[in-house]
Amino acid sequence: MYRTHLLASAAQRFFALVAALFAPLIFVAQDPATPTPPQDPVLAKARAVINELCSPDLHGRGYVNGGDSLAADLLGAKFKALGLEPMKGSYFEPFTFNVNSFPDPIYAVIDGMALEPGVDFIVGPSSGKASGSFGIAHVTPADLSGESASRTFGVITGKAVHFKVPATKNADSLALFAKMERELMYYAPVIKRSSGKLTWSVAQEALPFPLLEVLPEAISDSAETIDLRLRNTMIKKHGARNVWGWVKGKKPGKGTVIISAHYDHLGRMGEAIFPGANDNASGVAMLLSLAERFAKEPPDHNVFFIAFAGEEAGLQGSTWCVADRPIEWSTVKLMVNLDIMGTGDDGIMVVNATVQEEEFALLTQINTDKPRLADIKSRGPACNSDHCPFVQKGIPAIFIYTLGGIAAYHDVNDRPETLPLTDFVDIHHTLSDFLHALK
Ligand SMILES: [Zn+2]
Repeated sequence: MYRTHLLASAAQRFFALVAALFAPLIFVAQDPATPTPPQDPVLAKARAVINELCSPDLHGRGYVNGGDSLAADLLGAKFKALGLEPMKGSYFEPFTFNVNSFPDPIYAVIDGMALEPGVDFIVGPSSGKASGSFGIAHVTPADLSGESASRTFGVITGKAVHFKVPATKNADSLALFAKMERELMYYAPVIKRSSGKLTWSVAQEALPFPLLEVLPEAISDSAETIDLRLRNTMIKKHGARNVWGWVKGKKPGKGTVIISAHYDHLGRMGEAIFPGANDNASGVAMLLSLAERFAKEPPDHNVFFIAFAGEEAGLQGSTWCVADRPIEWSTVKLMVNLDIMGTGDDGIMVVNATVQEEEFALLTQINTDKPRLADIKSRGPACNSDHCPFVQKGIPAIFIYTLGGIAAYHDVNDRPETLPLTDFVDIHHTLSDFLHALK
């Protein structure tokens, strides 16, 4: 991996040199009639915000080195600078939850081949710790069924287990394998081959031993040893903060619209950083762009902006906010939750559209009058982001995410440099029109 990196750098230096030598020619060759259009200010600001949120200084906005708290401070300052009013005297809503984390460098070497964290493997979010050189026992689900089970658990003591699961899409089989994998983590470090790309997440618990999900080529059926150094830190009552602020509407008594986006991401897995550009620096950038606009031109109703913490750890921030009730929920006309705003090649998806029929009709009408988005798709209720606890409380809410474009998701490749922001400006204007038109 380092070698490839060095080669790339050498190639980059070469092309930079060529570009420098020929720059005057390129300049002359450019057609003066078609100058590069100036970048849209909405897009330029979004890029800057996303770069800031994805900076290594914020550690992936997770639970190593206080990454999420640093991001909260940054956003609180931005809310203030935009002129949003604090809610209940503060830009922050504190709360706590338990979360497992991986602050230390992780070493994994299988039969002498070093694996790169985040690229060749991820650790199961519920992983415990393990350190040492382990012989590998190859175990199948059959070895853990019926009479074989007790013999197998005897054999694996002191070893690491390569848990070999047959490829299947059968939900019952998958649930059974997941249960077995969890059981194994009480006895030994577990290694499994990934069935697709490596997709990480966050857990609120830690089991005694770790799980390593590795690329299929990283382990063979005859692998003999793994050298492992992995330490988790289970954080009890992690102190998190939602960041909030609001704009007073022009007409009193017109209620409140909530615009939300979670700012937390997965953080760090040892030295591997998960930047979370699309998920959800992009949504926060959209929230800030709308906050800037509405602070200058308030609609009739109040607008309450909430950047949630702890979404990836199981909708922690939104669940807390609903229970904390900073405003009377019955005055909320609509919540618009924004998560994954970075593409849009195939338009946007509106979750809970089948429940909020009138609002969905208004949104599609706006896009018919001023066609900006490729498509606005409708989806039923789904508990897949921070709108969910609000919906469960009976508060009208929709959740919007972009469709198409890049496949990076919950991995080290969800980076600002590759985030296209295809429809960011169009979504900004469409949402702005929509929120002004909401009656
Ligand atoms: Zn997200």
